Amino acid sequence: MNEQTTRQPHSVKPLRVVVMGAGMAGILAGIKLREAGYGSVAIYEKAARVGGTWRENTYPGLTCDVPSHAYTYSFEPNPDWSRVLPPGAEVQAYFERTVEKYGISDMIRFNEEIIACVFEQGRWNLTMKSGLRDTADIIIAATGVLHHPSVPDIKGLPAFEGKAFHSSHWDHSVPLDGARVGVVGNGSTGVQIVSALAGRASKVSHFQRTAQWIFPVENPYFTDEQKAAFRADRALLHSLRYDPTYLSNVERFTNAILDADSPEIREIEAIALGHLERSVPDPALRAKLRPDYRVACKRLIYSPDYYQAIQHPNAALVTDGIECVEAKGIRTRDGKLHELDVLVLATGFKADQFMRPMNVVGRDGVKLNDVWAKRPRAYLAVAIPGFPNFFMLNGPTGPVGNFSLIDIAEQQWQYVSQLMDLVRNGVCNEVEATQAALDDYDQARIAAARKTVFGSGCNSWYLDAEGVPATWPWSQARFREAMAAPQMEHYTLSNA
Ligand code: NAP
Repeated sequence: MNEQTTRQPHSVKPLRVVVMGAGMAGILAGIKLREAGYGSVAIYEKAARVGGTWRENTYPGLTCDVPSHAYTYSFEPNPDWSRVLPPGAEVQAYFERTVEKYGISDMIRFNEEIIACVFEQGRWNLTMKSGLRDTADIIIAATGVLHHPSVPDIKGLPAFEGKAFHSSHWDHSVPLDGARVGVVGNGSTGVQIVSALAGRASKVSHFQRTAQWIFPVENPYFTDEQKAAFRADRALLHSLRYDPTYLSNVERFTNAILDADSPEIREIEAIALGHLERSVPDPALRAKLRPDYRVACKRLIYSPDYYQAIQHPNAALVTDGIECVEAKGIRTRDGKLHELDVLVLATGFKADQFMRPMNVVGRDGVKLNDVWAKRPRAYLAVAIPGFPNFFMLNGPTGPVGNFSLIDIAEQQWQYVSQLMDLVRNGVCNEVEATQAALDDYDQARIAAARKTVFGSGCNSWYLDAEGVPATWPWSQARFREAMAAPQMEHYTLSNA
């Protein structure tokens, strides 16, 4: 930071801070704001509970594929994780427990969906769906990435006589035991659902449009003795979160994805290919499961049991392409009707929405919808020119991949909190990224993103409308460096 920003604070200004969303990042913001002594904070949450994606997703087999001890806040290690890859319900319970422990429930306004957030005369005016209004000096948008289901426009879907739902809106009243279940989509979600249902439903038909790379992983339980040792020894618990093997795997993976032709990416591909060759003896099935694009181009799937599940006598991999949905099931292009009682759409999410459909309006009436008409853009994924004192956690073009997003959000928090301090300490009233900073960042980012494995020729939610990966395209080390302290020449400070 430069001299202008490091000078002594005039005073600590009482600020109203509004956090959008009580998921993983919103909870983090709430805890950190309380810790820093911000006295007037509201977290608006559209649902009745905290947890974000872990609240929304309750499908059978839901598992966090990032190791549990890494998928924890750095300040709240958890000795009680049941296994290396924890079930979704356990992750949800962890967030609920953390909210209680840090005493931030009083900040959260449940069942309050923000529909408008408008910058007027130096402050943000918020309107909730309920009609409630609020005004804030600073906004932290922690609305998540994958929360708007992508429901495919498959001909005939409304005519289906069984039960059909998206994976993130699981209907638990629908019986699965003995049912004929169709699962459309084989991303991380579809793979986990099929793995859970293969021995349970009378038939599971997995509709695959594109084969996926599956990386082998084990998921052992922690023994009671291990958990007792974690509880007794904080240093041991700490060493699990910062497990050198896990960290070096993340480092290796995140470096590998930067270059689609790197030896490291070929090594990862060889492991995944070997896993397929060893796990699936039937050459015809193996051929259907073998992807024809680079490993990790789509988010790599970690699964201990999918290949076993898809070879279960009650499971079938359907690759013929969906022609339409009919009253009794799915008809594929080869003319076959796959009769179903339950149809699960594990078809992913619209990953370019972020705060929207909320109407966010910045300085001089500029609408976020217009600014983002082509694609969502944000300087270093946290700030948008024209939207002063408005910061995002897990915003567009941040790091995504097979690692802990909690870590990413924590690093973004330490960056954002330094910008907030400028306002709080009276250095300025408004802090805003410059257009030049965003343009330079985005130009360099796009050039680098095209070279990453995400841009090497497959379709995935990582890609923007122009087919460019909307991701952080550099190393984790570079991200850490970028998040350590804001470069103040990339911001305008004003006292309007
Ligand atoms: P996804 O990775 O976007 O996969 C969507 C699937 O639906 C793809 O297989 C896609 O096929 C298919 N699909 C979409 N439209 C279709 C259509 N009209 N006809 C046929 N197939 C269609 O979605 P996801 O599996 O829900 O996962 C999204 C992300 O959530 C993951 O990448 C991950 O970041 C996160 N997630 C994480 C975990 C975890 O354990 N941490 C678990 C689940 C999800 P194509 O491949 O052909 O497009």
